[in-house]
Amino acid sequence: MTSLRSVTVGLAVVLSLAAFSAASFAQRTAPRVDASAAIPSPKSVLGFTPGDDRTIADWSQITNYFTRLDRASDLVTVQTLGQSTLKRPLIVAFISARENILALEKYKDIQQQLADPRRATQRVQRDRLVANGKVVVAISCSIHSTEIVASQMSMQLAYELATTQDAETREILQNTILLLIPSPNPDGIDIVANWYRKTLGTPFEGREPPELYHHYAGHDDNRDWFMLNLKETQVITRFFWHEWFPQIVYDVHQQGSNGSRFFIPPFYDPANPNISPVLLRQVGLIGHKVAADLQAAGYRGVLTNALYDTWWHGGFRTAPYFHNSIGILSEAASARLMTPTTVNREQLARSTTRGMRNATESSTNFPDPWPAGMWRPRDIMNMEMIAARGVLSMAAKFRGDYLRNFYELGKKAVELPLELNEPLAYLLPAGQGRDETFAKMIETLVGQGIEVHRLDQELHLTHGPQILQRTNAPTEKLGTYRTVIDKPMTMEVPLGSYIVFLNQPQRSNILALFAPQIYPNRLTAQGEAERPYDVAGWTLPLQMGLEAPAVTAIKEKPSERKLTLVKNGNQVRADLALAPRRGDESPIKNPVRQPVRVGIYRPWMSNMDEGWTRFVFDTFNVPYSSVRDADVRQGGLQSKFDVLILTSQASAQIIGGNAAGTAPAEFTGGITDAGVNNLKEFVNQGGTLVCFDNACDLAIKQFNLPVKNVLDGVRSSEFYCPGSILALDVDNKHPFAASVPATLPAYFINSPAYALTSTDASVRVVARYAKENVLRSGWLLGEDKLKGQIALADAGLGKGRVVLFGFRPQHRGQAWGTLPLLWNVLSSASTNTSE
Ligand SMILES: [Zn+2]
Repeated sequence: MTSLRSVTVGLAVVLSLAAFSAASFAQRTAPRVDASAAIPSPKSVLGFTPGDDRTIADWSQITNYFTRLDRASDLVTVQTLGQSTLKRPLIVAFISARENILALEKYKDIQQQLADPRRATQRVQRDRLVANGKVVVAISCSIHSTEIVASQMSMQLAYELATTQDAETREILQNTILLLIPSPNPDGIDIVANWYRKTLGTPFEGREPPELYHHYAGHDDNRDWFMLNLKETQVITRFFWHEWFPQIVYDVHQQGSNGSRFFIPPFYDPANPNISPVLLRQVGLIGHKVAADLQAAGYRGVLTNALYDTWWHGGFRTAPYFHNSIGILSEAASARLMTPTTVNREQLARSTTRGMRNATESSTNFPDPWPAGMWRPRDIMNMEMIAARGVLSMAAKFRGDYLRNFYELGKKAVELPLELNEPLAYLLPAGQGRDETFAKMIETLVGQGIEVHRLDQELHLTHGPQILQRTNAPTEKLGTYRTVIDKPMTMEVPLGSYIVFLNQPQRSNILALFAPQIYPNRLTAQGEAERPYDVAGWTLPLQMGLEAPAVTAIKEKPSERKLTLVKNGNQVRADLALAPRRGDESPIKNPVRQPVRVGIYRPWMSNMDEGWTRFVFDTFNVPYSSVRDADVRQGGLQSKFDVLILTSQASAQIIGGNAAGTAPAEFTGGITDAGVNNLKEFVNQGGTLVCFDNACDLAIKQFNLPVKNVLDGVRSSEFYCPGSILALDVDNKHPFAASVPATLPAYFINSPAYALTSTDASVRVVARYAKENVLRSGWLLGEDKLKGQIALADAGLGKGRVVLFGFRPQHRGQAWGTLPLLWNVLSSASTNTSE
């Protein structure tokens, strides 16, 4: 690896010089067009100014505007990066000074060298790159489609940057290259635009559409930035972390209507310990600049240091921290889509969050509360425009600092000396027997630019599993933990295994993905758990059920090792003799042993767990139909299905649905009591009803199953587990657990746990939470409440059965380790339910 690298360093210098002279040539000879008069404004193209009340541009209007701007302005060039899930074009507009736009290839090459200091090891090389480079800033709008204003704002921002002649704009254009993404979720822009237009002028104007605004993930489209399940995430991750390496990524969001008007970092605690303190400070510096600009412009209600934290991985603005870049988030208060709303003082006074007592009280991090009143899309857009300019202005003014810091973080990651008992690599040993999962794991790592090597000969490695070890008595409610490498042993590791070294620029990403998370015990003054912003733990090999021991020593010297750098997922698939990936088709073979007719309940109250379930079924080519409220109400389910799945959703929501008057009538009402009876009849006639997490409650209570949720009504001071990986003990004699390891990590997210309420034999326990060392990654408060309780049960009823998954077997399309349980349930289902 090292010798190959040193060859490419020399070559890259030559190439970058060549690119530089080509660019200078282009600069001298390109015709000078003064086109400012001909540059179309958004209004001249759309017929309204973006942000006007009750106007909305859909995706074809947005892409059309950017195409026209590209044609008219030599400061803007638009590229299509790929396609969305529903095949809309994903676009980016490059905006910079004319001479920079003409030399984009040169600047991309500089970025790639800065991102990997092994390509430019000498200080003089670094200084030349810093002197010649531009800060690359990405701004991404409306990944959450109902947070719609930024997508509209993107057109106005591009237009103003392309036409404004003042000194600040010139400085921005000269020193930065802006990658403006009008939306990383184009499908959702159209879902919202179509719905908004349809409901405009009706009682439902400004309400959210009754479907997920991403085909599979809905709001979780911003939880996928390390797993790369979605097309959009794959395309933009490649663009960012294989090609352009933006030093600053600004992700523009909206929050609820009744709190602060605008949140901007610094963030709240806890910070993820793998994020460099330099980055946390730089995030804070940019945030304070934006906050000060907003206050200076007279905007009130600006909040910093509250609610949002940097703990979790997998967001648009959190992934950059693990690529040595700065991630900025803003959250403007929402209107009702593009319709103004009114917020009164009582609503503001009731709005409270960690870091803000309420939205009427001033404090150092919230010095000027907004006084209540009318709130318009225009207010949101103006604040977002000021924030975007603030971010760009910082990038322009401190150009050299951002480039140097970015390089130095990568260099430190490559050179960091080992501390005692710290891993130098993680190993993915061959022969684990789950080749599709193994391939997906490596594909996920390589997809985000992590270097993975295949062993082409055996190596003698000292390695052991990295686990959580409790550092206080198990009887104490608050567990404190440290990570240890458990009983490391030296042994020969077979060729065909894969290894991920930590001495690479993405060191912190590797640690954040492979090591167990230890979320700090954070309690309120009343002793209740303080809710994290998102999940507490996500360790990838645990979620995927793969062994990935930490390596502490390698006997063979670097010169004696035979390793191949993995280029892409198909290279791994070829090694494992799996079908190659081609285009959009999933190459994975249906893992279910018999043809089984599966229905997945799809509510009009959009449900991300349902979307992820469809995603997993589509990925594994398992056929299913979506079942709507009307289908369940109608009954006769046993003639159409062998298995019905209720994904995680509260029983009252499944039965009641959207309340009358909150949406057009066809989207209101749930399955109703009649539907509950039809589900019971389906099971009695031999059907299999599968429930995930919260939905188990419906079957347990409505069908009087002899189990109860032992966590029902328990206060968070006694038990709390907000998105963590826990150990299960599995009964392999049950067919659901056939060929599944006896101890299996499972995803628990404020989930239930069960105990039997009678000794009748109708319920068979398939998996229980472990009796000791339950927590594998994340945060678990009150472990004793959970030890040994039921996690997965098979409850017989009439001629059929109800399968209770207390956890999330398909969590966010990430928990591949527990998917075999689900496929086994389908394989075990009776296929003769039809009368
Ligand atoms: Zn959002």
